[in-house]
Amino acid sequence: MPLRIFNSLTRRKETFTAAGGEVKFFVCGPTVYDYIHLGHARTYIAFDIIARYLRFAGYRVRFLMNITDVADRVIHRAQELGRNPLQLAHEFEAAFKEDMLALGVKDIDKYERASDYVPQIIGQINGLIAKGIAYETETGVYFEVGRFPSFGRLSGLTQQELGLKRLELCSSKKHPEDFSLWRKSDRGLCWDSPWGLGRPGWHVEDTAISMTHFGDTYDLHGGASELIFPHHEAEIAQAEALTGKAPFVRFWIHTGLLSTKGRKMSKSLGNVIRVRDILKQYTPSELRYYFASYHYRQPVTMSDAAMRRARDQLNRFSRNLETLLHATGSSGSAKAETLVRAVKRAEWEFSRHMNDDFDTPRALATLTRLVSRLSASMNDGANLDQALRWKLAESVRRMAAVFGILT
Ligand SMILES: [Zn+2]
Repeated sequence: MPLRIFNSLTRRKETFTAAGGEVKFFVCGPTVYDYIHLGHARTYIAFDIIARYLRFAGYRVRFLMNITDVADRVIHRAQELGRNPLQLAHEFEAAFKEDMLALGVKDIDKYERASDYVPQIIGQINGLIAKGIAYETETGVYFEVGRFPSFGRLSGLTQQELGLKRLELCSSKKHPEDFSLWRKSDRGLCWDSPWGLGRPGWHVEDTAISMTHFGDTYDLHGGASELIFPHHEAEIAQAEALTGKAPFVRFWIHTGLLSTKGRKMSKSLGNVIRVRDILKQYTPSELRYYFASYHYRQPVTMSDAAMRRARDQLNRFSRNLETLLHATGSSGSAKAETLVRAVKRAEWEFSRHMNDDFDTPRALATLTRLVSRLSASMNDGANLDQALRWKLAESVRRMAAVFGILT
C-alpha cells in the first residue's frame, strides 16, 4: 500500500510521492520569547515521528525548521526585561534546542533564523510590489489579498468570513484583510530597507527561508492547526503570487491541539506546562509513547492518569522485549518459523498503518501486540537460538525507533 497523507489543502487523503525519493519537509518553528510548552512538544514530536517514518520507509528527508526571532512578542518581552531583543531570542532558541534534544527530536537537519534572511525577505517583498500585488503606505508594506483570488483555499474561509477576520488593524491599509509584509519602525528590531527602517512581517519570514532552501515548490509543510489561518494561507499567497507557480507546497499537514483538563493550553488561562518541567515527572519515551497513541490530527488531552497509563504500557513493552532478548527456553511448542512469520506480518501491518496517513495509534498497537506475543512464547519455553531472538528483537527495535520510545 502506497503512502497516503491527509492534505489540508484538498481535505482528503492523497497518495504521496517524492521526486527522486527526496522529501523537502518544512515545519514552522517557535517564536523564541519563552520556553516551549507541552503544546509545542506534541506538534514537534508528531512531525519528528513523521520524519522518522519517512526515513524508515526509504525516503531521504531534508528537514528544515525556521526560528522566529523577529516578532512583536520577542520585542515586547525584551522591553519588559530591559534586554536586547535578538540576544534574548537567541537564549530562548538555545533553550528550545536543548528541550528538543531532551524530547528525542534530533532529526532536524537545519534550523534557520528569520534575522539571517532579511535580504531574501526584502527581495520577495520587492518582487510582490513589482507585480502590483503589494503596496507601500506610511506604516509599512502590505499584501493586497484581493489580488490573489485563491486566498482562503487552505482554510476554507469564504470571502465574507475573510473580511470579518480584519487582520492587524491599521488605518493605512487599503482593505482590512490585507496583511503586513514589512512594518516601518525604528524601535526594537529594525533593518534598513527600500521603505526605510523596519522589520519583516511573520509570514514572509517563512517563505523567504523555505524558498531559499527548497525553491519555488516543495513537498511537505507542517505546523499546528492554529497556524492554518492566517499564517499558512499568507505563505501560499506570497509564494504563488511571486512565482506564478502552484502549488507552492504539495502537501500541508497539521497537528491537533493539546489541552489539559479540557482546556486549551494558553498563557491567559495559566495552564501552561513547560517541557522542561514535565520532563522532571516523565521520561521522553513516556511522553512520546503517549503522543504516539494519538493520531497526529487528533486533539490530545493530557492528564496525570493518562500519562501513568502510558508509563505502565511502556514498562510492559520494555519488559516483554527484555524477555525476548534473555529467554533460555528449550521445550516450548512455538516454532521458530511461526514467530518469524508473526514478526514479518507485524512489519507489514506496521507499514500499512503508517502508510495510512501516519496512523501511529494502530501501528503502535500492532507493535505492542507483537512484543507481547513474542514474550509470551518465550515464557512458554519456546526454543529459539540467541541469534534468531536478537534478529527478531532488532526488528522490534527498528519499528520502535520510529516512535522513539526506547532509550
Ligand atoms: Zn511558519
